[in-house]
Amino acid sequence: MTNIEKMFINGEWREGETSYELKSPYNRDKVAQVSFSTKEDVFEAIESAKLAQEKMKALTALERSTILEKVAHLLEEQFEECALILTKENAKPLKSARGEILRTIETYKFAAEEAKKLTGETIPMDAAKGGKGRFGFTRREPVGVIGAITPFNFPFNLVAHKLGPAFAAGNTLILKPASQTPLSALKTAEIFEQAGLPAGALNVVIGKGGDIGDILVTHPDIKLITFTGSLEVGLDIKAKSGLKKSTLELGSNSAVVIDDVEDIQSVANRCVEGAFTFAGQVCISLQRIFVKKELYEEFSQAMLQSVEKWKIGDPANESTDMSALIQEKEAIRAEEWIEEAKNAGAEILCGGKREGSVIDPTIIAKVPAHVSLNCKEAFAPIVLINTYEKFEEALRYVNDSQYGLQAGVYTTSIEKSFQAIEQIEAGGVIINDIPSFRVDQMPYGGVKNSGTGREGIKYATEEMTELKLVVFKVSD
Ligand code: NAP
Repeated sequence: MTNIEKMFINGEWREGETSYELKSPYNRDKVAQVSFSTKEDVFEAIESAKLAQEKMKALTALERSTILEKVAHLLEEQFEECALILTKENAKPLKSARGEILRTIETYKFAAEEAKKLTGETIPMDAAKGGKGRFGFTRREPVGVIGAITPFNFPFNLVAHKLGPAFAAGNTLILKPASQTPLSALKTAEIFEQAGLPAGALNVVIGKGGDIGDILVTHPDIKLITFTGSLEVGLDIKAKSGLKKSTLELGSNSAVVIDDVEDIQSVANRCVEGAFTFAGQVCISLQRIFVKKELYEEFSQAMLQSVEKWKIGDPANESTDMSALIQEKEAIRAEEWIEEAKNAGAEILCGGKREGSVIDPTIIAKVPAHVSLNCKEAFAPIVLINTYEKFEEALRYVNDSQYGLQAGVYTTSIEKSFQAIEQIEAGGVIINDIPSFRVDQMPYGGVKNSGTGREGIKYATEEMTELKLVVFKVSD
């Protein structure tokens, strides 16, 4: 068994009593034989993270920053190996996998910078009648032991969005990656070990969410849960985690409004990219397009022209744009939702077919509001195009959702831009681009059922600290 098939506890690579065969989502070939952690392993991981707090506290901001910088550097050196891990374990096409590793490197570089920036503020104590003669300031302290639970879709970069800020702020952490993508998390642990992170500060346990994830969520020694994943699991975590701090980064059915554009073909190309990248398995994947009625014909033709160029197939192939969904059952669910929309009167413009775990890029028009594809998260390569007459109506359609992660608006009008910024209920509004736009230092997170809290290195680092007030009595 190689290191990245074991678990990582207290700085040691440990083989499990039992293991499971990890298979490629694309061709079901065996990728690895991965150790399962027992409940006892998880308790030990929590204990070692607790003990490692002293070692993390002893590190200066510069030392924490240097470790994170080293991680970024080691990822650069092991770039191709990491991209191949992604392609094997979650069928991410090689060119997208390389893109994810590039972003992961940048995420750790931002975290290295953030480690040096954690500050408090001075408080004007004498602004209150009773505050005369007092000097007050705040400082930010690590929360302590963090439990991190991550999804399958960006297993290097979303792990970096937990580990980078956690270590920048001086915390220790237990990571439970998705069962389908343990190798990227374990490879990350190997890199942190090489970078000199104190033993026990990072622990990686492997197993089913409902079993070992639950221990992290409920254990009294874990002070903060940072979770990225589905709404259902997020709600369960919220209900069980009691007074623990929690950051929940959940799903969406993101929308774009196309009101006024200069180059309709380039907007259509961008929408195809937003809808079909990684087969739509992106939390801000473009799912709902609302296009002004007069633009519909030209825009939908431009989308069809653009999607024709997409190459579907083996993720290891250099030219592949899109591959299999993570599990066949997800492809079957997506196919059922397409059928439901068709039966409700929607028009399939292209795609709609399934072969095993692969769903063809699918564009559907005239989709009634009540069908699953409109109101739930598709997490598959499916995009809907509906029309509107008035801009206000389009904004209402965008908000007619249980989710609110990001939304896009194409317009050349300043007034309409500001109207959209004010009225759209989402964590982010992207003007003149798709909702799928993200760089890793920006604040990122949702409203409504898309979650609570913000990621983006500066914001996550702050969430992973406690604010402490200090007051000096200087004089009477
Ligand atoms: P998921 O099924 O919710 O799983 C996410 C993680 O939670 C996995 O590690 C899973 O472990 C674990 N888990 C499952 N049940 C659990 C439980 N009862 N207690 C504790 N942990 C549990 O999500 P996914 O299918 O991997 O990812 C897709 C979802 O993530 C989509 O909804 C997507 O929108 C969302 N997402 C959101 C963001 C964001 O930043 N907002 C980013 C990416 C993805 P197992 O794998 O072992 O089941």
